[in-house]
Amino acid sequence: LETVVFNLQLALERAEQSGELQRRALALERSNAELERFAFVASHDLQEPLRSVTSFAQLLVKRFGGLEGDPKAAQYLRHIQEGTQRMQNLIQDLLTYARVTAEPRPPARQDTNAVAATALQDLRASLDATGAAVTVFDLPPVMADGTQLRQLLQNLIGNAVKYRHPDRPPVVMVTGEQRGSWVHIDVQDNGIGIPSEYHERIFTVFQRLHARDQYGGTGVGLTIARRIVERHGGQLWVSSDGSNGSTFHLTLPAATD
Ligand code: ADP
Repeated sequence: LETVVFNLQLALERAEQSGELQRRALALERSNAELERFAFVASHDLQEPLRSVTSFAQLLVKRFGGLEGDPKAAQYLRHIQEGTQRMQNLIQDLLTYARVTAEPRPPARQDTNAVAATALQDLRASLDATGAAVTVFDLPPVMADGTQLRQLLQNLIGNAVKYRHPDRPPVVMVTGEQRGSWVHIDVQDNGIGIPSEYHERIFTVFQRLHARDQYGGTGVGLTIARRIVERHGGQLWVSSDGSNGSTFHLTLPAATD
């Protein structure tokens, strides 16, 4: 009998512990959601004062011809404009991040090729400026939120062009195939590559391994990309030998009809 009572007590303790764990997980989830909400509101409310700084800087340029007569003042003005542009990009990225974190709309059948074509349209300026050759091979249809799929492809193809090798024009290949109920998509580039110790870290928010002065960027794009893929139940990872380009691999649910 003693053993039975002892075991019962043990079972009760465990049950209590697991209840406590559940409570803690719930509290953590709630504070996480609150934090994300805070980041969204803060980013959103920063837009207005930023707009005013940007437009007054523009007014200065217009009114005083960019302050050319005073090289120091002209340089300060340039710093203000670069700073506000960086801030604008960061706010845009944080808002996009918050948006994809909110529940995605119910996934619908997407013609992945058509969505990839719109993503390329969004990137037209940087593709033209760099002479990038982007080939999208026939991609099977997927079940996804169309806006998020477009954002995902835009982030990955955009990076493939942005982190190009200085000695060769960017060549990007987007391929896909259906395996069972999943579509596997690869975005392969011939850029500067990513050393293996960064393969996981680059998906963390604000993590960048290449100088911002040289490449621009906020360090949020891949966090958004991974969040989108995971919200659809898939996975996103990278392979690269660190010098001969990188390939980003992802999975999304295949279209059912
Ligand atoms: P960013 O806005 O800085 O481009 P991302 O989250 O999109 O932010 O990427 C994080 C970092 O991962 C980048 O700063 C860059 O160092 C690296 N990276 C991303 N894509 C590539 C790529 N295709 N080739 C090489 N490095 C990349």
